[in-house]
Amino acid sequence: MRKLGLFAIAALFAFTACNSSAEKSESTTEDTLSKAAAPELVEKEISITINAGDDMMYDLTEIKVKEGQTVKLTLNHTGKLPKESMGHNWTLLAQGTIVSDFAAKAMLAKDSDYIPAGATEVIVHTKLIGGGQSDTIEFSAPAKGLYEFICTFPGHVGMMKGTFYVE
Ligand code: ZN
Repeated sequence: MRKLGLFAIAALFAFTACNSSAEKSESTTEDTLSKAAAPELVEKEISITINAGDDMMYDLTEIKVKEGQTVKLTLNHTGKLPKESMGHNWTLLAQGTIVSDFAAKAMLAKDSDYIPAGATEVIVHTKLIGGGQSDTIEFSAPAKGLYEFICTFPGHVGMMKGTFYVE
């Protein structure tokens, strides 16, 4: 009776051990799979195209990237008006920037296409372009968080702004 009991315990132990090792090997397979898929989920580079026309609107008001990604952003001016009257740029602002204050300062910087020289509020920006033109910039996504982007051409910030999420 005692022997049988020990046997039963041993058998139970063996079963448990076997079962847990089976579980373990299953989860290892899952780990391997998710690791293998990871490079596809977090691309090193992300390409973004944003269009703006004579209607003074970006076609994207939300952009999402991942921390450390290389962002290749193209701004297309799909309108016909020249940059002197309907110029657009894409300007990414540092966190904590008071957008209306910065826009007021930027609209005075006509000589430098409405980007004040040495502005610490600007992380990166495209050129100011007119109808039919485009500009592409490449930059590293900043630290995780929420940023704002605007067009600094005088009077455009009210219509041309959006949120840039770094996840
Ligand atoms: Zn604009």
